[in-house]
Amino acid sequence: MRLKGKVAIVTGAASGIGEATAKKFALEGAKLVLVDLKKTDIDQKLAEIKKLGGECIGIEADVTDREKVEQLFNTAVAQYGRIDIVINNAGITNDAKLVKMTEQQWDSVIDVNLKGVFNVAQAAAKVMIEQKSGVILNASSIVGIYGNFGQTNYAASKWGVNGMTKSWAKELGKYNIRVNAIAPGFISTPMVEKMPDKAKEMMKSKSVLNRMGKPEDIANGYTFLASDEAQYITGAILSIDGGTVI
Ligand code: NAP
Repeated sequence: MRLKGKVAIVTGAASGIGEATAKKFALEGAKLVLVDLKKTDIDQKLAEIKKLGGECIGIEADVTDREKVEQLFNTAVAQYGRIDIVINNAGITNDAKLVKMTEQQWDSVIDVNLKGVFNVAQAAAKVMIEQKSGVILNASSIVGIYGNFGQTNYAASKWGVNGMTKSWAKELGKYNIRVNAIAPGFISTPMVEKMPDKAKEMMKSKSVLNRMGKPEDIANGYTFLASDEAQYITGAILSIDGGTVI
């Protein structure tokens, strides 16, 4: 078991990549804190993870709410005594072409993908600095490296995630805290499933492996980066995209 006894918080844990990561971490021996928007969704995932033999609690929280984020870290520390790993995964899309994008579309994506990631990392850093150890892993995207049609807001948010990842790696290294991000390509999750078939076909064809990725492909990356095998990796943006961009 590569994460035996480690305590991990996963945001956006009730769906897609977050769910796959939480399940993989449970199988690798981690104690989990599942964070998501809806209690019913969290309760369902808690039951599934407990069936796998995992130890976990669930917390309903919106990552854009700073007070809630602070509370969730207090609850997690009260339950497990420490936080070793944070998977800063919660994220949304709200697409439109530049000239049609509304202020609401811009604000919603920036709020969750940028401010939410900041809120969670700041709360994590406060605990981890005290501990003098920890790993923070952020959800970036290939769109945060290469941009994408119709995703001004999303590209800006993920570009920001890359910048924050590198800045935090520089700030927190002296406390033995590693900070990295994963930039997934197109992964088959509810976020992508809602896109038109034509767009999905296009995404598939862009991978040199001619398929979309699975949430487990990203969960495997997070497991490696969270584990001691990656103890000398920090400030990195790891692309897991089936060769979509080479
Ligand atoms: P997903 O299936 O939509 O799951 C995201 C989860 O986050 C959902 O359970 C969602 O809840 C939750 N969430 C949304 N806003 C939240 C908030 N404010 N506070 C707490 N939880 C919130 O998405 P995914 O595809 O797994 O994506 C996960 C991450 O990977 C995102 O950051 C995304 O940008 C990134 N990513 C995904 C892909 C891809 O191809 N799928 C590619 C690159 C990067 P609700 O369902 O209730 O809204």
